[in-house]
Amino acid sequence: MGFNIAIDGPAGAGKSTIAKKIAQRLSFIYVDTGAMYRAMGLYMWRNKIDVEDEQAVSKACQNITVTIEYQDGEQQVLLNGDNVNDYIRNELVGELASKVSAYSVVREKLLELQRDMAKKGDVLMDGRDIGTCVLPNADLKIYLTADTSVRAQRRHLELMKKGIDTDIKEIEADIIARDLRDMKRKIAPLKKADDAIEINTSKLDIKEVIEIVIDLVEEKRAK
Ligand code: C5P
Repeated sequence: MGFNIAIDGPAGAGKSTIAKKIAQRLSFIYVDTGAMYRAMGLYMWRNKIDVEDEQAVSKACQNITVTIEYQDGEQQVLLNGDNVNDYIRNELVGELASKVSAYSVVREKLLELQRDMAKKGDVLMDGRDIGTCVLPNADLKIYLTADTSVRAQRRHLELMKKGIDTDIKEIEADIIARDLRDMKRKIAPLKKADDAIEINTSKLDIKEVIEIVIDLVEEKRAK
C-alpha cells in the first residue's frame, strides 16, 4: 500500500491547484474526484436529463462509464470513452455535478473507481468526502477552507483570466448555495473528518499552503 493523502473542502478553497502542485513535488498520483462528478453532470446536460429527477438520473447511470487516464501526469476524465476534460470546468457543470452527486446511485458508481485508484501507489485525492468516506484510513487528511468572500474573489479572478466577466456577488451566492447542498445531503456530505487537519487559506498564498502540507506529509512519513 502506498501513502494516501485526502484533501477535502468547500468549492473554491484552492484544493485542486494546491493538490496538483503537491502531487507533482512529491511524485504522487493526483486524483481529482470532482472531475468525475462533473463528467456525470455533463452527461445529464448533454442528454437533457432533469437533474432534479433522481429516478431519471439513476436510470441514466446505467449508460455511463467514467474512466481516468493520465497524459503527461495530467488527469483526463473519459465519459463513455470520450475525453471530456475541456467541457467540465465551468459553473454550469459544477452546479449539475453538485445536484447529481447527492444521489446514491451516482456516488456508488464513482466510489469503487476512486478506491481502486487509491491502491495504485502514493495517491493524493481531493474532493468532499475523501477523508470521511472514500479513504477513511488515509495517512494524512487535510480540510482546506477559506472565507466565502475570498473564495468568490479567487473564482472571479480565475474566470476573468479566461475572459469571462461575472458578477462577484452572484459567484458568492452560487458558492454558498453549492456548499450548503454539499453539506446538507444525506449521503457522504461535505464535512471535516474528525482526524483531519483544517487549514484556512484566506490569508495564505498558494506557496504557503503547499509548504504547510508538505511539512505535514514529511512529519507523518517520519513516524
Ligand atoms: O471540486 P469540484 O468543484 O470539481 O466538485 C464538483 C461537485 O462534485 C461538488 O460541488 C460536489 O457536489 C461534488 N463532489 C462530491 N464528492 C467529491 C467530489 C466532488 O460530491 N468527492
